[in-house]
Amino acid sequence: ARKFFVGGNFKMNGTISSIKEIVDNLNKAQLDPNVETVIAPPALYLLLVREHAKKEIGVAAQNVFDKPNGAFTGEISVHQLKDSGIDWVILGHSERRTNLAESDEVVASKTKYATENGLNVIWCCGESLEQREAGKTLEVIAAQLAALKSQISDWSRIVIAYEPIWAIGTGKVATTEQAQEVHASIRAWLAKEVSQKVADETRILYGGSVSEKNCKDLSKEKDIDGFLVGGASLKPAFVDIINSKV
Ligand code: 13P
Repeated sequence: ARKFFVGGNFKMNGTISSIKEIVDNLNKAQLDPNVETVIAPPALYLLLVREHAKKEIGVAAQNVFDKPNGAFTGEISVHQLKDSGIDWVILGHSERRTNLAESDEVVASKTKYATENGLNVIWCCGESLEQREAGKTLEVIAAQLAALKSQISDWSRIVIAYEPIWAIGTGKVATTEQAQEVHASIRAWLAKEVSQKVADETRILYGGSVSEKNCKDLSKEKDIDGFLVGGASLKPAFVDIINSKV
């Protein structure tokens, strides 16, 4: 069985005091032990969060570089994250694909370097509104997956997050049917292009306007194995999302 997974992507939000408050709140809460919880603060606060958060909570960076060390101003290495007790990284988020021009190839290369060096990856994919309206959703996602597959052989450190761009930060959550359809197609793609074992074992998260109100219904879909939460991960209601699996 796939362990339900809830990630909190803080994006470029928070201060020392507000992030401490979020972590204190999570530390005090009764979190479902059958759910893997991982929070991703801005890089500057990774150490603070790792030191403050209880052991059951994993910590993720929001980016990492694909070289071991050296003259790469502004970058952080996989080895530095691991040295700091950080076990996860989010890669391929649409905000980085758009604002930082990260291509499928760059995302795949970073995913390869991270997983080969022992870091777990929340790998994101998803279509734009224009692509969905053109009926290209499954094609777009298959192309993103194919770029990943061309560089990856070990899928055991990868969690896939399906985040339709039109649902991110808009309050327009995908319907349970829309999300389930894409999740099932990702799993079918894995079965066909990688292996049945990888298809059965890989967790596929939904992200995009997840809230304490819509998470329960989404969690009932058979191919939805958790969430990647943005805005709501900064609020006390994040606990309800973590504990949403019925
Ligand atoms: P929101 O939950 O704020 O829509 O963000 C989703 C997201 O991008 C998580 O990575």
